Amino acid sequence: MKYFLFALVGIIALLLILLLTAIIRALLIKAKPADKKSAVSFTADEEKLYAEKLSAMVKVPTVSAQRGEPCPERFRQLHAVMKEIFPRIFEAGEITDIDGNLIVKIKGADPSKKPILFMGHQDVVPATDDGAWKYPPFSGEIADGRVHGRGAFDCKSTVFAEWQAVEELLSEGFKPGQDLYLTSSVNEENSGGGAERIVEWFKERGIRLAFVMDEGGAIVNGLLPGMNTWVAAAGVVEKGSAHIRFTAKGKGGHSSTPPKNTPIARLSAFVCEIEKKNPFKKQFTPVVTEMFTRLAPYLSFPLRLLLGNLWLFKPIVGFAMPKFSPMANAFLTTTVVFTMSGGSEAANVIPSEAYVVANIRPAIQQDLDSCLAVLKKIAAKYDIETELIIGNSASGITDSHSAEMKYIEECVNACYPGYCFTPYYMTGGTDCRKYESVSDNCIRLCPMRVHPDQMAAMHGANESISTDAVAEGVKCYKYIIKNYK
Ligand SMILES: [Zn+2]
Repeated sequence: MKYFLFALVGIIALLLILLLTAIIRALLIKAKPADKKSAVSFTADEEKLYAEKLSAMVKVPTVSAQRGEPCPERFRQLHAVMKEIFPRIFEAGEITDIDGNLIVKIKGADPSKKPILFMGHQDVVPATDDGAWKYPPFSGEIADGRVHGRGAFDCKSTVFAEWQAVEELLSEGFKPGQDLYLTSSVNEENSGGGAERIVEWFKERGIRLAFVMDEGGAIVNGLLPGMNTWVAAAGVVEKGSAHIRFTAKGKGGHSSTPPKNTPIARLSAFVCEIEKKNPFKKQFTPVVTEMFTRLAPYLSFPLRLLLGNLWLFKPIVGFAMPKFSPMANAFLTTTVVFTMSGGSEAANVIPSEAYVVANIRPAIQQDLDSCLAVLKKIAAKYDIETELIIGNSASGITDSHSAEMKYIEECVNACYPGYCFTPYYMTGGTDCRKYESVSDNCIRLCPMRVHPDQMAAMHGANESISTDAVAEGVKCYKYIIKNYK
């Protein structure tokens, strides 16, 4: 009994010491307000000019081209607008046009140095003026301190800011130390293969790039619940994505004499099992651990205590966070969501075959094949067939400590002092992963502030971007290009 008491007191004392250490750490890591000004600035005239130029690009309704389609006229119209607003780039740059997918090369002083590349996409998802839009989707309206319209954010703001930065530098007589490329595809939004064709061009010429900067991450607010700080989230990896069809077969027949275990009943039970207990393990991969650790100093105390001390609280965070944040859940595990379904054609006919389709997002720790195996096993319990429609595993991971990543971090910190910078685990996809075969540093970050409502409107109604954020973005790209050695 005595020994038991000793052991109990010992355990309690140890727990108290651990907790106290965690509390002290949480107090010490709290982020301090910025003590320096931004290294860049812009004038009101510049902000106005940029808004007008971006607006001109938004006015061209460049809805995605199809795979293999010769360049549709709408992209030619966009190119004409770009020629007008970026005259120096078209004068100084070597332009390659692969069915509308653009590659611009600006020659640098030293051709033996690895080039750098800034990319984006010219196409947008469709938008109709169905009354949900405050301003018509392709009006490019400049109002309320914003440029409005489809593509204003995704991704013409990125393309515009990259090109405007280069345009200004050329007009100032700047010559890059190494070759500099601007690329943009015409069918990112429907995975139409434009980026692959651009990457082929680089491969054929044996060109390897020091780094590639794309959209994907941005400077966002409210990345995690309880977070009220701007975060420059630089995407270093993308989850995979796959569409899977699950089919259940049965005898069919008239609905007046229904048997048990009809296809829809089995599919429903299967869907409920997956929904209730996600069969994929949660895991703190190094990229997620680093992300949470970097975010921690900017969080309110309770969250800072937890995320700032993952050495102690990983099990609690892994259990609790996914419960109130779908985003946090997606960071830790492969996700499955059922998106389509079908059965018989009539309400009084039992289907002889019914199906559901799921979209899954394989996490880094699990490739597509092993995800499929897990689902197949569960589906088999309900006599359901599993078929992969299309899909891929997660992308490769850019090393967040590479010299190039560190450089981008330094530049963003200089332009946006006091903001949090973190490598970011992307749950969605971009064209950037296609460039993995030509660069070790695929960085998905548009250094531009995007408000939560603007983030939410991406691919929806009332897409917009703030004009001051666009100006900051232009200046930040300029800073990155100008200071790169
Ligand atoms: Zn996009």
